[in-house]
Amino acid sequence: MQNKFCMLIDGKWVEAESEENFEVINPATSKVIAKVPAGGREDVRKALKAAERVFKEWGNLPPVQRAKFMHKAANSIRKHEEEISRLLTQEQGKPLLEARGEIRGAADAIDYYAEEAHRILGEVIPTNSAKQHSLVIKQPIGVVAAIGPWNYPVSLLIWKLAPALIAGCTVVAKPASYTPLSAIRTFECFVEAGIPVGVLNLVTGPGSIVGDELVKNPAAKKIAFTGETHTGKEIMSKAGTNLKRLSLELGGSCPLIVCEDADLESAVKGGVYRSFRNMGQVCNSINRIYVDKAVASRFIEMFVEETKRLKIGNGLKEPEVDLGPMITDEQRKHTEEHIKDAISKGARVLCGGKEPEGEKFKRGFFFEPTVLTEVNHAMLIMQEETFGPVAPIMVVNDMEEVVKLANDTRYGLVSYVYTKDLKRAISIAESLECGTVDINNVSGGEVPYPYGGWKESGLGLELSHYGLEEYLEVKHIRVDIGR
Ligand code: NAP
Repeated sequence: MQNKFCMLIDGKWVEAESEENFEVINPATSKVIAKVPAGGREDVRKALKAAERVFKEWGNLPPVQRAKFMHKAANSIRKHEEEISRLLTQEQGKPLLEARGEIRGAADAIDYYAEEAHRILGEVIPTNSAKQHSLVIKQPIGVVAAIGPWNYPVSLLIWKLAPALIAGCTVVAKPASYTPLSAIRTFECFVEAGIPVGVLNLVTGPGSIVGDELVKNPAAKKIAFTGETHTGKEIMSKAGTNLKRLSLELGGSCPLIVCEDADLESAVKGGVYRSFRNMGQVCNSINRIYVDKAVASRFIEMFVEETKRLKIGNGLKEPEVDLGPMITDEQRKHTEEHIKDAISKGARVLCGGKEPEGEKFKRGFFFEPTVLTEVNHAMLIMQEETFGPVAPIMVVNDMEEVVKLANDTRYGLVSYVYTKDLKRAISIAESLECGTVDINNVSGGEVPYPYGGWKESGLGLELSHYGLEEYLEVKHIRVDIGR
């Protein structure tokens, strides 16, 4: 693998002005796999300047012409899918099969938004005068700063820059410092597609410097951010100085509700998949499970059996494993602390709860998928985002109680409900305080549907046509034609 990667600023692949670099580590082996420029404030300013300079020209292109570059970039990503996926697995840890899915999904998201070129629609509103017309048009916001996390480093940047580009915005993106490689390689595909110089820029480096400059610099008119809730709050307060437009996709504590009439097999399959996928390091991971007492013992037994079947490993060498390592030792320790806290307050570990044994796990940040019972809401695991492979299961007496428990959190991202009773399903779904409710499925975020958080899980929406609106300003033009 090439071990030096660069930033994309004003159409050139460059080092940081400071000439400093930081290292990227493979979490499956803890070995350094690459060096990446440690960008600073001056690098961000140059990138913003370039994006500002070409904004008018890009924004004035007919959307279908912008779409042509995007379709080409999507095809280039497909052409380089294997290379980008391997980088993603090496820096993030997810098994290669999943990495390929993320890269394919990112290419599809670019095509989806390119097709929205035909649907950036305005309105004509009737006025009270025959001489006047009221036109409502949509225009691009300006330069967008897109800041992404490490758990889906390619797709979560694409979910921002694809709608931004088709809307006519130019972009300066910052990938997370644990996982910049797959994003850099993905940006190469936009360059290969001939995207005009300056339209898309990528600056690597610490959030406290590169991210901070993007948030504070008045040249960036909108901040599109995915990451932790506390970072989102910090960004919101800083961006307030210039009243910047914001979309914030933040943390979650997502409940799974299993009613007494649920199809237990599919609830268990869905529950295990959504609790442990990507080692629980997903915003919409199931963090808390509530199961009706009538089916609790059977559900718990099946859930533990299914969890024990999950295979862990280095997803580059064994692409078919279900789970790779966690991103860092720190993230693993955070998970262990939540488990310890739960045990100290009465929880019981039914499986997992420790690092797996064996030579192949020694150097990576592996952890066994863990199932807990006898949990309650005084435990951190039921209140805070663990972002690790733990499924705490609580037995409940009735469905009124369950909605209260599910909503007893500062987060409001996704909830999952399993029941065969449609009336009950809709009634629970309407009562849950969150942006998405999946009934009898655990689908997660997909491009055609709006995705966003309530409460402290965020502001604004990503995906679908709602996600596109986030990059458009509305302008009312009142015309007097003087007849
Ligand atoms: P994070 O620590 O908040 O970092 C996210 C990004 O922000 C990184 O690029 C980071 O840079 C940058 N950053 C850090 N401090 C900053 C600052 N002061 N100003 C501007 N940028 C700053 O989050 P993470 O640990 O990467 O991601 C995990 C979190 O993301 C979880 O809470 C998860 O739930 C959430 N998430 C939410 C969604 C959703 O759609 N709601 C989806 C995925 C993940 P560095 O990497 O250089 O620190």
